[in-house]
Amino acid sequence: MIRNPIPWPDGARCAVAFTLDMDADSILHLAHHTSADTRVVALSMLRYGPEIAIPRIVETYRRFGMRQTFFLPAWCMERYPAAVETVLEGGHEVGHHGYLHEHPNELSRDEEHAWLVRSTEVIEKMTGARPRGYRAPSYRFSRHTLDLLLEEGFDYDASLMGDDIPYLLEGDKGTVVELPAHYGLDDWPHFMASRDFGYMMSIKSPAYAMEVYRAEFDAMWEHGGMWIGVWHPFLSGRLARWAAIEGLIRYMHDKGGVWFAPLEEISAHVRKMIDEGEWRPRIDRLPYYDGPIPELGEAEPELSKV
Ligand SMILES: [Zn+2]
Repeated sequence: MIRNPIPWPDGARCAVAFTLDMDADSILHLAHHTSADTRVVALSMLRYGPEIAIPRIVETYRRFGMRQTFFLPAWCMERYPAAVETVLEGGHEVGHHGYLHEHPNELSRDEEHAWLVRSTEVIEKMTGARPRGYRAPSYRFSRHTLDLLLEEGFDYDASLMGDDIPYLLEGDKGTVVELPAHYGLDDWPHFMASRDFGYMMSIKSPAYAMEVYRAEFDAMWEHGGMWIGVWHPFLSGRLARWAAIEGLIRYMHDKGGVWFAPLEEISAHVRKMIDEGEWRPRIDRLPYYDGPIPELGEAEPELSKV
């Protein structure tokens, strides 16, 4: 089913990473800059992430002996230093997730570069190390992002959705390892319900989301893929949901043959397999397009409005 499966360490059947994007209230300020301060309930819902969920999540990882990846917008790190401390005390990786969750594909190349550098400086100052990995806020990877990641020395990206296993993104200045996920592994479609964001998913039992995640995992396990959960502490860290997620982690452990790892370790493994000639990756050349395709002309025709 997978044409070029990668050998995982110690003969594991698949790789698993639970990545948590601690967006906190950055997304509310971005969506409603002039009124975010008046939306107190939304603020409380989002602050639940750093204040309540992060300690709970890190404690679960400690019990299971797992080291994982947290993507932290730098503004959130400055705002919630105790949550950063908790993540670091747990020995986890901190990845780059923008400064204020700004959308790179709505910025000029220079603006995107400036936010990228500013956030890297905060991460370096607060963790003692430059981030090795990047996830574009809201999956808004731009036509310039790869180039900028290469300029700034990143090893991997975890924003795209183009495969079941790692692959390489190639630009003029080199390659980064792409560690893809997809919406089926995200928690917004299951759990997000907030009028402030115009996003009202119907409330269902957490067991339903676990069924979806478990089906994805079982397929990855069967065929040698990679399972990366793209989750948010304020959503997945809620009590009933996190209790169900603990059950999912236990299920994975009990099944066996699973390599739990932070993304930086998966990326390093990918490079090692390539360097040792053990595996040949698929390569995507970016950007896919330099501009709008010419066939439709310059105006936005009706047929493009899907
Ligand atoms: Zn995010």
